[in-house]
Amino acid sequence: MSFPKIGVLGGGQLGRMLGLAGIPLGAKFVFLDSNPLSPAADVGELILGGYDDTTALDKLIDAVDVVTYEFENVPVATAEYVAARKPVWPPPSVLSVAQDRLKEKEFFQSLGIPTAPFYEVNSLEDLHKAVKEIGSQGVLKTRTMGYDGKGQFRIRSESDVDTAWNEIGGVPLIYEGFVNFKRELSILGVRNQKGEVAFYPLVENVHNEGILRLSVAPAKDVDALVQKVASDYSEKVLNAFGYVGVLAIELFDTEDGLVANEMAPRVHNSGHWTIEGSEISQFENHIRAVCDLPLGSTSMVGYAAMLNVIGDLPKLGDLLEVPNTHVHMYAKSEAPRRKLGHVTVRSPGQEALQECLALVRRILVNR
Ligand code: AMP
Repeated sequence: MSFPKIGVLGGGQLGRMLGLAGIPLGAKFVFLDSNPLSPAADVGELILGGYDDTTALDKLIDAVDVVTYEFENVPVATAEYVAARKPVWPPPSVLSVAQDRLKEKEFFQSLGIPTAPFYEVNSLEDLHKAVKEIGSQGVLKTRTMGYDGKGQFRIRSESDVDTAWNEIGGVPLIYEGFVNFKRELSILGVRNQKGEVAFYPLVENVHNEGILRLSVAPAKDVDALVQKVASDYSEKVLNAFGYVGVLAIELFDTEDGLVANEMAPRVHNSGHWTIEGSEISQFENHIRAVCDLPLGSTSMVGYAAMLNVIGDLPKLGDLLEVPNTHVHMYAKSEAPRRKLGHVTVRSPGQEALQECLALVRRILVNR
């Protein structure tokens, strides 16, 4: 049997790691991206073009058996254009929900998944009403195209309303009540074409300036019930869409239980540790799912923690000297706030994990 050839919309680091996971299975990859220096170009053919370039899209469609995406802001029209000729997984229908924070929260609520209180905001007047209704502790966010903390304004009192509006107003917005969370978690689930599902253990994530810095797996002190609640939320979303592939849901862990923040219909930064930390990584399971293959075990292999390499390149040799450490660089050039790579520490014991993590952190901070 020849392995299906996989087309990927987007050629960033997620595409690169999908390629690195699929190649051992015999998969071949074709990526579409407008950046000639795309990190995924090292692991497959790169077709240069934007998401609205039908010539480039046609070339991709002709070259592959099945298409997936590694960027959640792929235009819905692009995914639908491709889906008219080749299977696209996850289903394009999930994109329009995941790309709009309002639709996303309404969708979570329709499935009985708790969210922060929210209010649709299209004018300064709406924002005043929203703050009256929900309270003056909240976050004003653009409904679309927000990522890594962009397009957000933290409101702390009524007097912030005008500034918030001046800062990000004029586009469709959502005002969310501030969630007093103990920590941030994420659940990664995967569903294949037969409808089989699997879930990774809950991960604890630390963000700074809106960017993920650290993921620890499994998240500490998660009892079986909380894991089940998270897996059930993920399963509800997966089944609602007839989803195929990996889905990440970011959750707030609160005194009153888990609250969903947002979802990403793709492999996710908070699952990079699965490359070394799980029997089968999120990337391989995504490939298996979209290629109609059985899912692999999501069981952990020891304890794992992942640190993102952001902005500046570290000294590779220094990192490689740290035991239990696995370095993934994305072949990107340095730029402020840019994710250039990640480092996963995996160890059979917590103590060794923490020691190695501290060493890695020191190297990343001192570069
Ligand atoms: P997001 O782009 O929605 O993932 O938001 C980025 C970060 O802002 C989250 O990881 C949280 O740390 C914080 N945040 C977002 N929304 C809320 C909220 N409603 N309440 C408290 N913190 C939030």
